[in-house]
Amino acid sequence: SSRASSVLGALDIPTTPTELPGVYDGEWKGSGDILQSVCPTTGEVLAHVKSASPAELHAALERTRDAYVHFRSIPAPRRGEIIRQIREALAAKREELGALVSLEMGKIRTEGVGEVQEFVDVCDYAVGLSRMLNGRVINSERPGHTILEVPNPLGVLGVLSAFNFPVAVYGWNLSISMAAGNATIWKPSPTTPLCSIAVTRIVSGVLEKNNIPGAVAGLVTGGKDVGEALVQSRDVDMVSFTGSEHVGRIVGKNVQSRFGKVLLELGGNNAAIIMPDADLSLAVPAVFFGSVGTAGQRCTSTRRLYLHRTIAPEFLARLQKLYGALKPGDPLDARTLLGPLHTRAAVDAYDGAIAELQAAGSQILVGGARFDGGGNFVRPTIAVPAAADGALWATERFAPVLLVAEFEELEQAIAWNNAVPQGLSSSLWTRDVRNVGKWIGPAGSDAGIVNVNVGTSGAEIGAAFGGNKSTGWGRESGGDAWKQYVRWSACTINFSDEAPLAQGVDFTP
Ligand code: NAD
Repeated sequence: SSRASSVLGALDIPTTPTELPGVYDGEWKGSGDILQSVCPTTGEVLAHVKSASPAELHAALERTRDAYVHFRSIPAPRRGEIIRQIREALAAKREELGALVSLEMGKIRTEGVGEVQEFVDVCDYAVGLSRMLNGRVINSERPGHTILEVPNPLGVLGVLSAFNFPVAVYGWNLSISMAAGNATIWKPSPTTPLCSIAVTRIVSGVLEKNNIPGAVAGLVTGGKDVGEALVQSRDVDMVSFTGSEHVGRIVGKNVQSRFGKVLLELGGNNAAIIMPDADLSLAVPAVFFGSVGTAGQRCTSTRRLYLHRTIAPEFLARLQKLYGALKPGDPLDARTLLGPLHTRAAVDAYDGAIAELQAAGSQILVGGARFDGGGNFVRPTIAVPAAADGALWATERFAPVLLVAEFEELEQAIAWNNAVPQGLSSSLWTRDVRNVGKWIGPAGSDAGIVNVNVGTSGAEIGAAFGGNKSTGWGRESGGDAWKQYVRWSACTINFSDEAPLAQGVDFTP
C-alpha cells in the first residue's frame, strides 16, 4: 500500500517481493529461513527478510569476538564519542523510525516515536557513563598494600528481544554495552525484522565512518533456532533476554548450564492501588493509559486494579467512560489511541482470556469481544472476577484486559499486589505520606518498580529498569545496571618489601 511504502521509503527499505538481507556482521547477508514482516493493522506483507543460517550465525559470532578484541582497547570516552554520533544519527531519523515501529509492531505513533527517543536518551546516558565507569580503591589490612576493584570490558553480549519494544530494548543494551567496551550481537523478534534492520543500518553507518568493525553491533535475525544457538554458544559471555516467562525459563537454564552470565527481563502482572484520598483526575487517566496503551502489550501494562471500596463506583464509572469513547484506528494516524494486537496469535490469546474469565464467573464491565470485522483489533476489557485472588489473577495476559477488585485496608491491597509470581511494576495513588511509607518500605510492594501517583508503565531511562521474582531479577538501562556489563576484578597490589598473608596467617617453613 502507499501507506506502507511511504514509511518504508523514508528509510530506504524496498518492499516485497524483494528479499532483504537480515544478517549484519560488517557485511549484509542472509541465507537462512525467510521471515515475513506482516503489518498488524492491514495484514499486508511488508517485506521478506533472509534470516541467519547456522553457518552465518557461527561466522557472525567469530567476527563479533574479533570486534570485541579491537573495541575493548579503545578508551571508554572515545567509545562514548561514537555513542554520541549514534545518538545524533538516530535523532535525525526519529520520526521515520517511530513510524516504522507503528507500521510493523502496531503501537501508535507517539509511542513509536517515544521508543526511538528512549534509545536517544539512553545513548546520552551512556555517553556520560563512558567517563564514569569507575572502580574503587579499598583499604588493605596489610601494610603497604592497596586493593582495587577494576571494571574491564566483559566480551560479547547477546541481546534477544521481544516484539513489543522492537527498538528501545536493544537501545538500552547496546548503548551501555558499547560504553563498557563490549561487542553486541542482536537477535530481535522474528516478527519485527524491519525495525532491527533499520536500526542496524543507522548504527553501522556510524561505526563504518569511525573505522570501527561493524560486528561491534551485529544483527542476526531469525526465530527460535537462531535464538537457541546464540544462547548455547560459549562465544557469548552474557545473554540479555527480554521476553516471556516461558522462554526466559529455558534461556536462563541454558545459559546457567554453561555458566554464562544472564540478564532476564520477563513478563509483568502489574497492579495499581487507588486509596480513598487519591486525586482521581490524575489516577483515572493513568490507569486508562496503563491498561489500554500499546493495546495492553507492554510488560508494564496495568493488568490488576485494586480500588478502595469508597471510591470504587466513581472510579469505575469514569474509567468506563474513557473506555467507551475508544475507537480503533491506524496507529500511523496521529489521533489514534488504540492500535491492533501484534499478531493473529495474540488475538486468539485475547479470546482465550475472555473465555477463561467468563467460565470462572467474572463480570465483564466493558469490552469482552473483538471489533466486528476488525482484523487484529480487540475491545479493551474490564472484568471483575468472582474472587479477589487466586489463579485467574496470577498470569500475564498480553492483551488489554484489566481485572478489578475492591479492598478496605491498604495492607490487603499490598498483599494482593505481592501475591502473584511476577514482580515488575506497581503503582499506588494517595496523598497520605503514611501510605507512601508503607508502600515503599519492607512490608510494601515487592516489585522492581514501585511508583507513587505515577502509573505502572512509562519508565524513564535514568533508573535501573526491571522486575523481581518470575520477572527474572534483571536490571537494564540506568542506575547501577552497567555494572553487570563489565568484568570485575579485585586486584590486591603489594608496594612493600614484605609479603604478609591476610588474616595474619603464618606459614613460615
Ligand atoms: P517471546 O518469549 O515469545 O520471545 C522473545 C525472544 O525469544 C524472541 O526473540 C524469540 O525469537 C526468542 N526465542 C523464542 N524461543 C527461544 C528459545 N527456545 N531460545 C532462545 N530464544 C528464543 O516473547 P514475545 O512474545 O516476543 O514478547 C512478549 C513478552 O515479553 C511478554 O511476556 C512481556 O512481558 C515480555 N517483555 C518484558 C519486558 C521487560 O523488560 N521485563 C519488556 C518487553 C517485553
